[in-house]
Amino acid sequence: MKKYKAIFFDWDGTAVVSRKASADQVAKPMKRLLAEGVKLAIISGTTMENIAGGRLHEYFTPEERRNLFLGLGRGAYNYSFDEKGQLFLLEEKIPVKEEILKIHDICYEIHRLLLQTYEIPTDIVFSRPNYCKIDLMVGNQRGDALFLQEGEREELLFLLEKHGFRGGIKGMIALAERIGKKYGMDVSATTDAKYLEVGISSKSDNADILYGFLQREYGITDAECSFWGDEYVGFGEGIYGSDSFMMTEKTKGGDFFDVSHTEGGRPEGVRKIGGGVDGFMKFLEEQSMFWSET
Ligand SMILES: [Mg+2]
Repeated sequence: MKKYKAIFFDWDGTAVVSRKASADQVAKPMKRLLAEGVKLAIISGTTMENIAGGRLHEYFTPEERRNLFLGLGRGAYNYSFDEKGQLFLLEEKIPVKEEILKIHDICYEIHRLLLQTYEIPTDIVFSRPNYCKIDLMVGNQRGDALFLQEGEREELLFLLEKHGFRGGIKGMIALAERIGKKYGMDVSATTDAKYLEVGISSKSDNADILYGFLQREYGITDAECSFWGDEYVGFGEGIYGSDSFMMTEKTKGGDFFDVSHTEGGRPEGVRKIGGGVDGFMKFLEEQSMFWSET
């Protein structure tokens, strides 16, 4: 495998098994890479508190932190660290109050329609600053593992079918977009099966903003970047998982890797490595060896 100047990676399910799992293991190769000047960008749908309890940076010296970036909240927050090692907001994408309320209305209407017409019960998480999460499978609990679980897509398709909802997952996304339009909003609706997330930004915004920064500041090209995740697998018909959103017009010249074993379609060019968190760890260890050799 080649040496990458920048490594973009998902957190839950890629760098750590669950949010409660310790970051000790992944921090070790990360620290060596950061010290070598390799840029590391965590691209996660979650918030800072869920990345090693908001204390990931404490593993690294202020100098090492200069090479660490975080793209969080589904496009919303894009951070770097300043010369003192303090967290620094590079760019945010937060809807204004009226817009977020509109997203709430859109999601409530999706909930109403699913219950009224199809008798599909849902729960909605309204507290995110820039999107809503609609739980489409309220009877299926993930526990501490908050990422896509094996067999969930099949379960959701079965559930939709059973309730007479036609069009599957693509139909669900189309429904969200249609209701969004009704409210005059171009929503970005994504799903990992259990959750349908509706907002105005996605991991594509994180990838574009942080890659754009690295390109401008360090002259790094897309071919010098790799992108790692555990949710590339799609649902058919051109609908792919959340990590596939890191692949954009700007970043598509990079190398994309999937650590999941999940069967199913991946966007063209994504390589299935497998191994889960261990697969990613092996890659980081290997990269840190490459960099320290030269
Ligand atoms: Mg993940």
